[in-house]
Amino acid sequence: MGAPPAPLRRQRISAQWVASPGRTPIADGVIEILGDSVISVGPWDRQPVDIRLDDAIILPGLVNAHTHLDLSGAAGQTPPRPNFGQWLESVVGFRRSNPEDVVIPAIAQGITQLAGSGTTLVGDISSCGSSLPLIAASGVTGVVFRELIGLSESRSQTAMSHISRGEPLSPHAPYSFRFQSLGCLPADVPLAMHVAESPEEVKLLDHRSGPIREFLERLGAWDESGLAPSIEDVVETISNRSGPTLLIHGNYLRPEVKLPPNLSIVFCPRTHAAFGHEPHPFRKMRDLGVRVSLGTDSLASNPDLSVLNEARFLFPQFPNSDALLQMITSDGAISLGFKDRGRLEPGSRADLCAVQIGASTANPLEELFAGEGRVVATWTGGMRIA
Ligand SMILES: [Zn+2]
Repeated sequence: MGAPPAPLRRQRISAQWVASPGRTPIADGVIEILGDSVISVGPWDRQPVDIRLDDAIILPGLVNAHTHLDLSGAAGQTPPRPNFGQWLESVVGFRRSNPEDVVIPAIAQGITQLAGSGTTLVGDISSCGSSLPLIAASGVTGVVFRELIGLSESRSQTAMSHISRGEPLSPHAPYSFRFQSLGCLPADVPLAMHVAESPEEVKLLDHRSGPIREFLERLGAWDESGLAPSIEDVVETISNRSGPTLLIHGNYLRPEVKLPPNLSIVFCPRTHAAFGHEPHPFRKMRDLGVRVSLGTDSLASNPDLSVLNEARFLFPQFPNSDALLQMITSDGAISLGFKDRGRLEPGSRADLCAVQIGASTANPLEELFAGEGRVVATWTGGMRIA
């Protein structure tokens, strides 16, 4: 006879504000948690609580839909450049000169940044899966996509031979993964692909020339036969699947392009700005019913891994605080295949974060995005991780 199971831990957390996407923020709210689940959310009844945060807003745990944790050590070493091919070359150079024993501690530091900035669910692209156990140990939920690279038939076959059953996949980009192999990938697993990121990529597909071709030739990885006829053909091929599908960036996609409900756009605002791209079509896409979530991309191109800071960066040009909250919570969760996360309601997983905010504000979400209050706590499944 084993010992009877320990009773589930009950916690009550109260704050000046409690917000969940699609709901009016609750002033002086309280969240009751049993084990790893939220059992109630509502106004504070003044009964004792375990934690009271007077100058904070509690939100669902944030969702960073796109990063590359294995590039965390590249911070400051590979700044965005006007020539996208040259930037790619600097990232390849970084990867080649940094062995696994340097990369692993950098991944761990990246995960600490994620948790410290309120992230409880992350979409991470990993060149060899090394972030998976570290994310799992942190309490953050990770969808870790195995990066697939290979424009030639033999390289794409080699990349595909390492796929494990059920593993999320990331054929890297139309210029680095063979178009003919794209349709052979399992259709039901989560998939993330960089598409229409730069004018150089569009030029490559339209004219088979330009800086990306020159970069691939220098690398010995050029194979024209692996290129798609057009960006639209890539979008159509990855649209034709059942699993959650993330189209990363889409900076140069025509907003009218038809996208199915299982496909989400991931917009990385600060990286987008750092490369000086043309305005992103995310507003038009949202108006057309396309889900747009936010990501930070990696420290190879971005100053930090805070998806809240991405939303704050966007706020002056897109002052729609309800939409921004949705993009960094529930929409991000759906894009990664978690339809029931990114909300605070009875039955939802107790993934939450608290952000400092002025006590006297009348519009807490505007203050959240217009202000600079820091994340003061993060919980996953009811456990405090930061
Ligand atoms: Zn990326």
